[in-house]
Amino acid sequence: MTVDLHSHSLFSDGQLSPSDLVARASEKGVTTLALTDHDSVSGVPEAQAAGAVHGITIIPALELSTLWNGMNVHVVGLGVDIHHPALVAGLAVQATARSRRAKLIAEKLERNGLKGAYEAALERAGSPDTVSRTHFAQWMMESGRVQRMQQAFDKYLGQGKSADVPIPWMGMEEGIALIHAAGGISVLAHPVQYRMTRTKLRKLVKAFADAGGRGLEVSTGTQAPDTIPWMGLVANEFGLLASQGSDYHGPHMPWIELGRFLPLPAGCRPVWDAW
Ligand code: AMP
Ligand code: MN
Ligand code: MN
Ligand code: MN
Repeated sequence: MTVDLHSHSLFSDGQLSPSDLVARASEKGVTTLALTDHDSVSGVPEAQAAGAVHGITIIPALELSTLWNGMNVHVVGLGVDIHHPALVAGLAVQATARSRRAKLIAEKLERNGLKGAYEAALERAGSPDTVSRTHFAQWMMESGRVQRMQQAFDKYLGQGKSADVPIPWMGMEEGIALIHAAGGISVLAHPVQYRMTRTKLRKLVKAFADAGGRGLEVSTGTQAPDTIPWMGLVANEFGLLASQGSDYHGPHMPWIELGRFLPLPAGCRPVWDAW
């Protein structure tokens, strides 16, 4: 049984359609898959239909962009009612903020001499509402402006860099409450990826738990192996369920694969115990 609770389709910055994503998950031996597009549940119905064909359980889910102490923190919502009115309304606000930001990022890039940034990102995203920094990074890589995706973030798109545009995402606490209102389980995504000091990370996890957050992503596809036991201990310390997922985005990021991440450490309470 392989449970992968973090993946993206072209309804955010993933490269595959939900159907192709589910087909690939099936090939890779995944038996339960959560589709967690950024600030969107639009791909869930298609994923569920494909799940029925391939015999995979699809968890309706999303990855909310939120703010904590001025920092961009991602909260995964597992098992949400995708039609819940408050969720639908909250996501509409996020989409507007996202599409506004895309234009502002492009303006900054143009000033840096990167012409045609908006059109290029829009072409890759498919819709103004889903333009992600990943799409800008993809374009920079494909056109030889940077060698690796990471460079696009380090040079232009990352927090405090030349094309950074702060975005008024919902607060982390608000995101947690919204997921719970929609019947889901909130999970703090990829804690290690925030590159915080241990002290700061513990502060974040504590704030997340104090706000009613339920789970911590203990194992992901992008994480150094030695950080997994540590995250398991942190989850237990703050009474959080342990989640796991690849954070798959598509074949263009071949270092991440569906169903590929290390198992949860012994002693953790898996998030699926709560279902
Ligand atoms: P956005 O939601 O538009 O702010 O874009 C965030 C997305 O960009 C994340 O979900 C990742 O997929 C990607 N991303 C963020 N930071 C990096 C990085 N340093 N290297 C590669 N991809 C990144
Ligand atoms: Mn992403
Ligand atoms: Mn994320
Ligand atoms: Mn993700």
